[in-house]
Amino acid sequence: MSTSIFGPVLSRRFGLSLGVDLVGEGVKKCNYDCLYCELPKAKKVSSIASAKAPELIAKEVEAALLKHPDIDFITLTANGEPTLYPKLYELALMLNEIKGNKKLLILSNGSTICDAEIRKSLRLFDVVKLSLDSALDISFKKIDRPLETNPQKLIGCMESFRGEYGGTLVLESLFVKGVNDSKEDVVALNEAYLRIKPDRIDLSTIDRPPAYRVEAVSPERLREIAAMLDKSLMVSIATRKSEGSKVRSFSKEEIIYSLKNRPFSVFDIEALFDEPSKGVFEEMKKEGLIKEREVAGTTFYWCF
Ligand code: SF4
Repeated sequence: MSTSIFGPVLSRRFGLSLGVDLVGEGVKKCNYDCLYCELPKAKKVSSIASAKAPELIAKEVEAALLKHPDIDFITLTANGEPTLYPKLYELALMLNEIKGNKKLLILSNGSTICDAEIRKSLRLFDVVKLSLDSALDISFKKIDRPLETNPQKLIGCMESFRGEYGGTLVLESLFVKGVNDSKEDVVALNEAYLRIKPDRIDLSTIDRPPAYRVEAVSPERLREIAAMLDKSLMVSIATRKSEGSKVRSFSKEEIIYSLKNRPFSVFDIEALFDEPSKGVFEEMKKEGLIKEREVAGTTFYWCF
């Protein structure tokens, strides 16, 4: 069997990360068939059959950690959906034994969150990232094309998971033009976010060739969507491409006003501030005018 390890990769959202693929070579194993998926289309499945034993994966991770001692995260992902791996609980226990000061992260599509056994496994992770592309039935089915389930049920289970999980919960919503980017979609997602109370929300769009003929939303539309969300939410827009974002000049007063209005992520500063404004921002940090907090590898800034 081939190795399960890839990377380290430098991710804008999570820092330096060692990837662990729980599916391995061959066709994708997923219970969704997302319009935006970058993997080739495949029949939907509800579990990963013929998966590698957790002991073998843990040994590979142990060896990789010796080679790459500077990583921030051990990231469980898959050529498909990682929570369909049948020995997730055992594997997470083993990885927690050997991870040292690294954080254990899983990138899941969120589809299995109503399963009590999966939730028990997820509680072993330092950071859990779940996808929630829509809170409306029609858009959800259009964009994620799930094997089964519906968004209201998932949102309820995500809310319950939040109540029982002490780690860092990140939600990701990926927007596809004309599919889940309407005002109704954003309003419904905002309500869902407020119910679930994640530590961080990542908004994104297509940035690699997708399986189907669909289009990304513009950087401006992502910013409009972020601006429609409740100001208490920690929202990050992190796409691989930042082109299209227009940098602007901000005075000290404008920075204070903006950061009092809502937290800005490090990506907002990169994308929106011109060089002189970044200089002003750095000075304000030194003067102690700006508060900051790191949430699973992404720093947020705000003023009181
Ligand atoms: S959940 Fe991930 S792997 Fe599965 S179809 Fe969607 S994008 Fe692809």
